[in-house]
Amino acid sequence: MKDINSGSIRTFEDMTFGASDIVITTHMKPDGDAIGSSVAMYRFLKDNGKSPKIVINDSYPPYLSFLITPEMSDDLIIRTEDPQEADGLILGSDLIICLDFNAFHRTDGLEASLKEANGRKILIDHHLNPSREAFDLSFSETEVSSASELLYHILINTSAAGGDAARLGRKCAEAIMTGMTTDTNNFANSVYPSTLHMASDLLAAGVDREMILNCIYNQYGENRLRLLGHIMKDLLKTTPDGVAYIVLDKETLNRYNVAEGDTEGFVNMPLSIARIRMSILIKEDGDRVRVSIRSKRGTSANMCARRFFNGGGHENAAGGRLYIPDDIKGIEEAGDYIERNTHIFLNNE
Ligand code: 5GP
Ligand code: MN
Repeated sequence: MKDINSGSIRTFEDMTFGASDIVITTHMKPDGDAIGSSVAMYRFLKDNGKSPKIVINDSYPPYLSFLITPEMSDDLIIRTEDPQEADGLILGSDLIICLDFNAFHRTDGLEASLKEANGRKILIDHHLNPSREAFDLSFSETEVSSASELLYHILINTSAAGGDAARLGRKCAEAIMTGMTTDTNNFANSVYPSTLHMASDLLAAGVDREMILNCIYNQYGENRLRLLGHIMKDLLKTTPDGVAYIVLDKETLNRYNVAEGDTEGFVNMPLSIARIRMSILIKEDGDRVRVSIRSKRGTSANMCARRFFNGGGHENAAGGRLYIPDDIKGIEEAGDYIERNTHIFLNNE
């Protein structure tokens, strides 16, 4: 890993242990890797005598609440609930650690204060096209499963851990295992030799993987499975080009009482069809239209997201959004938009 060496680890240690007001932050609508890496960083710093805060734009989905223990509640600030405190902490900090995103706009409401903040900034991320110029120190590797895995390789090399996963602390280790597990879809995608080494070391150090899997995958409401049935029977569309897509409008989301996180994993499922090369899930979210894209090897979800969906991400897992009225007049046009533009994309037009 090109960004991890004794020099960069030393700089990381100097910057973190020399700072007094540390903010940890991650992308909007945080997922398992965003929360997992943020909590792991938090735990590591706490275990080493620091008092960091985690500042995020939106709340986290309920299936991740096992990582946020009650005594952490004063140290986790959500901007949509308390904008003044969130912005104040970012502007008043002397170190900001940015996890699992490649550019400030990915934090949505935190973007303005992150840009304005004078504190030093560290990037720890695994997405393509990082804005390195915005950071004082960057760890950006795309050949890892997750930001959580990248953070593991950094932390394990600090003098506090001395190469021993057991010295990371159980809660830190559990958070890392959680982020890696969700970003790889439970070891289905983006698994590298380093990922399995890390998972093995964390298990040997006592991480309870069964507990983590139970929290992540077995705590949903019945509504989620009912929605999945409706989607697969009635809403899933496929095109002659080998694209599968699902449009979830507000009415459907309300009818099934869908909460953030309830549609996690759905976008991957149509890839199980042999002729499908790319799968797209569209979700109406307030006045926004959010897009998730997954692709098989040989088709770039990242390029498709960048070119047609105002976004980006990884080669085979990306996301973005559609703007109303610039891209589509309303959610009812999303299907046509997808069919037209994926046809152009997949036929090199
Ligand atoms: P998901 O579909 O799980 O929301 O996101 C898949 C991947 O695409 C994640 O790595 C995420 O960071 C990235 N991604 C999602 N939405 C956007 C977006 O609006 N812009 C960019 N640049 N990346 C996104
Ligand atoms: Mn990630």
